[in-house]
Amino acid sequence: MRTPALVPASLYDLTHEQLTRQLAEWGEPAFRARQIWHWLYQRLAGDIDEMTDLPRPLRARLKQAYVLGRLTVAASQHSLDGWTRKWLFRLADGSEIETVLMEYDGLRRTACVSSQAGCAMDCPFCATGQMGFLRNLRAGEIIEQVIWVARALQAPHDDLQGAAAKQPARTVASGGERLSNLVLMGMGEPFANYSSVLEAVRRVMWPQSDGGFGLGARKITVSTVGLAPAIRRFADEDVQVNLAISLHAATDELRDQLVPINRRYPLRELIEATREYIARTNRRVSYEWALIRGVNDTPKQAEALVALVRQTNPKPGANLVHVNMIPLNPTWGYEGHASSRARIQQFREVLTRAGIPNTLRVRRGIDIGAGCGQLKSESPRAKPTPAEAVPTPEKQTSG
Ligand code: SAH
Repeated sequence: MRTPALVPASLYDLTHEQLTRQLAEWGEPAFRARQIWHWLYQRLAGDIDEMTDLPRPLRARLKQAYVLGRLTVAASQHSLDGWTRKWLFRLADGSEIETVLMEYDGLRRTACVSSQAGCAMDCPFCATGQMGFLRNLRAGEIIEQVIWVARALQAPHDDLQGAAAKQPARTVASGGERLSNLVLMGMGEPFANYSSVLEAVRRVMWPQSDGGFGLGARKITVSTVGLAPAIRRFADEDVQVNLAISLHAATDELRDQLVPINRRYPLRELIEATREYIARTNRRVSYEWALIRGVNDTPKQAEALVALVRQTNPKPGANLVHVNMIPLNPTWGYEGHASSRARIQQFREVLTRAGIPNTLRVRRGIDIGAGCGQLKSESPRAKPTPAEAVPTPEKQTSG
């Protein structure tokens, strides 16, 4: 296995500035940077040799100094629902990550990407937490997951197998679709790898008119376990992306168990940071809540959550906090179960009655372990443990 230091840089690791500088050093004309950028982020080239309008010697030089990307597919799976795909990638140093593509009603196509190999946050109900932390991903490794999914959407989907291929409703089998949404809800804690995540987000937002991928900020969601200082810092960044916060419990006593980082950044601090974030950015935030039977689905937790949401809204009567629930997905290392339908209904009613906007997410890709909180590295030689991801909200808003 090669150590990361010996692995050549990938073209996706380069910022636009770095690429420009590199080409200038090589004595190339300035427009080459734009050409290459266009191949990387618009044409989604799968090989440096596809960049046919570059002179052959330049291509050779690029290949000598860089690799295009560093992800190798170790496994790929389609869910029986026909709308969810998952890839297990092996990175150059042997660590593994997972990436998920979720399609919704033939219109929305969301990539769920990982920001770290493993996770150090230790949430017991999450498969990534159960596997532990390996390392931060480089910006290029985060971006490459997005490009990979975008490329997969573009290609004809003749590799669909089994039930997925038979889905009559699939418009997608013809290929040629564009990625419409991006969520940083795969393995890892994005704010624990802050600068690479921010660089990756900026990169995918790079305007199409400048040869970039051009995904709109509103189509991107970063999810955090609740690192309060990073939430404050994020409020000052010039990226208008959506923020989701994995709350899962409305009392410190319970949250200390479900989301152990709560012991470092307890609810009071988290809520204050979130409130400040909203006040400064005027953007809506969502609180995520995995409904666990008999644990956090009680009327008491629902009432406490209502109070927290009210404290988070900077002005009384404001509705800038949204609650996004999902029934717990099963993972190998956690005994808990999803709440019953009746309980979920009751829980939602408490929120709705209090006027709090809320959605219930549909579980997706559970059969291939691609649901929220199910992502992990799972090649046979890796430790047999789990990790996480997250579908985006179903249109079922109430309140
Ligand atoms: N570390 C970040 C990004 C991960 S997003 C964060 O915590 O927000 C993954 C989402 O799935 C988080 O909201 C996480 O709490 C949730 N999740 C984890 N395990 C889950 C499970 N077993 N069932 C449903 N959701 C889960």
